[in-house]
Amino acid sequence: EPARSVSRRTDMADRQVKQSNTVINAGLSRLEEDKQCEDDEFIGFATLPDQVHRKAVKRGFEFSFMVVGETGLGKSTLINSLFLTDLYKDRKFPNHILDNAEQTVDIERKQLEIEEKGVKVRLSVVDTPGFSEALNGEKSWQPIIDYVDRQFEQYYQAESGVNRKNIQDSRVHCCLYFISPYGHGLKPIDVFMMKKLHHKVNIIPLIAKSDTLTPKERSHLKNKVMEQIEENHINIYKFPECDSDEDEEFKQQDRELKSAIPFAVVGSNTVVEVAGKKVRGRMYQWGIVEVENPAHCDFVKLRQMLISTHMQDLKDITSDIHYENYRAEHLAEQMKQSTRERMKLKRESMLNPGKMEDTDNLIAQKDAEIQRMQEMLAKMQAQLQTNPRTPVNGT
Ligand code: GDP
Repeated sequence: EPARSVSRRTDMADRQVKQSNTVINAGLSRLEEDKQCEDDEFIGFATLPDQVHRKAVKRGFEFSFMVVGETGLGKSTLINSLFLTDLYKDRKFPNHILDNAEQTVDIERKQLEIEEKGVKVRLSVVDTPGFSEALNGEKSWQPIIDYVDRQFEQYYQAESGVNRKNIQDSRVHCCLYFISPYGHGLKPIDVFMMKKLHHKVNIIPLIAKSDTLTPKERSHLKNKVMEQIEENHINIYKFPECDSDEDEEFKQQDRELKSAIPFAVVGSNTVVEVAGKKVRGRMYQWGIVEVENPAHCDFVKLRQMLISTHMQDLKDITSDIHYENYRAEHLAEQMKQSTRERMKLKRESMLNPGKMEDTDNLIAQKDAEIQRMQEMLAKMQAQLQTNPRTPVNGT
């Protein structure tokens, strides 16, 4: 009897387990169906940011900037302080300096690749010859202008070519303009040079060797330079407005950044020890000026904006405004040439009435060409006008 009752109970338990299994399985398959339905409702574009991100990271970023200013203001030293440093332990330099891709007597371009958390940035740093008012003026600035134009030209050619997918972008995205700490603001050569550059490249003015100034002198010089920039209608890089929905900390950072222009910088090739820590600095009898100490100068602000906060905006402005300006000028030049050719054909047709038909055809071709260019120019002009950050043209 007890044995029978035990076996009955086991049978019941078995049945119960089977029943619950069926319930669970039914539940699971319903869940599966629901999930399928949910999946069907998603088109899948939610992964787009990831895809764009992955693609961009794979390709890497290209960024070029140049340093311009009088000889001896510390341009080369600052470049070294900015990137060619062994102090960034968590940053990889796979190819420390890739090559001197372009080196002429006057201009030297260094390329280096930095990688941080899997993101690669290919940086090109263009060191230009220092100029000086005492020296032959034109000779010293022309190569700098020519260099910027040449990069636009190369990009233009590549863009009009067949293989437009992997265009190397060597356009100069930013120009760090060094201002002497010894004078009383901008010198005539600075005003001249900035005006030559401001429609071609984003200018970021810097007060060089700012360790030679007291805080009061520094702030006085900064104000003076900004006044002169305005008086002379020089278009330096305009920092974009901060979005109103950004958090307060970000807004504060943005305000500090904007009010620090022109950035007062200090460069150094020497590593010194401060409180047991190795830092880049300049050692004086009275103490040490630390390059990366925000209380000592604006170096960190400059590096941060170049590399982490404003790189993309500098690239966008280069592409949308400076390069478009170049294209418009280039097109206008081509149009002038076509018009001249058309006039020449017209003269020829009058002198040789026998060849009339051929010449008429050619003139009609030229007319069509000129009209196409006019339309392109009008379109570009309209685009430039709708962009609120377009600088006013005219040198
Ligand atoms: P460049 O001709 O503009 O490239 O100037 P360099 O980088 O060759 O520097 C010229 C001299 O100025 C060198 O003796 C540097 O050590 C010195 N120098 C560079 N940066 C600074 C700086 O921030 N402060 C001071 N006091 N001297 C600097």
